[in-house]
Amino acid sequence: MYTIDLSGQVALVTGSSRGIGAAIAKELAAAGASVGINYRTNANAADQVIDEIRAAGGEALRVPGDVSDENSADAVVKTTADRLGRLDILVNNAGITRDRLVMRMNAEDWDEVLTVNLRGTFLPTRFAIPLMVRQRYGRIVNISSVVGLSGNPGQANYAASKAGQIGLAKAIAREVASRNITVNAVAPGFIELDGGGMTGELNDEQRGQVLSRVPAGRFGSAEEVASAVLYLVSPAASYITGQTLTIDGGMTA
Ligand code: NAP
Repeated sequence: MYTIDLSGQVALVTGSSRGIGAAIAKELAAAGASVGINYRTNANAADQVIDEIRAAGGEALRVPGDVSDENSADAVVKTTADRLGRLDILVNNAGITRDRLVMRMNAEDWDEVLTVNLRGTFLPTRFAIPLMVRQRYGRIVNISSVVGLSGNPGQANYAASKAGQIGLAKAIAREVASRNITVNAVAPGFIELDGGGMTGELNDEQRGQVLSRVPAGRFGSAEEVASAVLYLVSPAASYITGQTLTIDGGMTA
């Protein structure tokens, strides 16, 4: 059987105290990577993820910090690399929504989402790249969204930030490809999370309407996003860079 082995590698997953980020962190740890667990506010949630990883025999480190703040992002990347010994994998997952129709959206709603989702992707990448260049190895994955490809009413700020993460990945992929560093994006569709998430806010009628647009006939799971990320960060995906992989049950096919 072929399995992906990340032992000896170090990963940083931003926003991994819950949801999709937590599933990605657990998946990378299960494959053998030591993982930096980043979050902004909820230390208890991060500790729970770390406990789970350690109970399964993996290694995880708590690296709190706002990834959209320059000094914090630098510290989060440096602490992960210093304490765990190197940095092979960066997953830019931290993200927020502030949904409103554009004619009611104020500049604050815009700035907050663009700052966390796009600046918060640029900064950790900016600080990780020199370490990866020195190692002549690296894997970066931005967690975008199908909304960044197709748009969605009420999410102009979010869609712009998610499309931005795709452009960012493409540009940086071209800058660092010769150094054995790949930069890709994944675009999840409707993902059902334990704590509810976006799909938890839908009533039965809305759920039915959404599902009628998904050929697979069901929502995706955080684990299904995590397994796609695991492939993209693995040595097996060495010739894939600047790409966006949709994980949406066929919705945008
Ligand atoms: P979530 O459950 O709301 O979790 C967000 C995570 O990001 C939390 O760990 C949060 O930590 C952290 N975070 C927020 N702002 C941060 C900041 N400035 N610095 C560091 N950490 C920060 O989110 P999710 O639904 O799993 O989504 C994760 C990613 O997948 C997002 O980029 C989202 O756009 C994308 N996505 C989600 C879906 C979906 O259906 N859920 C679909 C497509 C794409 P604290 O709580 O401590 O702040």
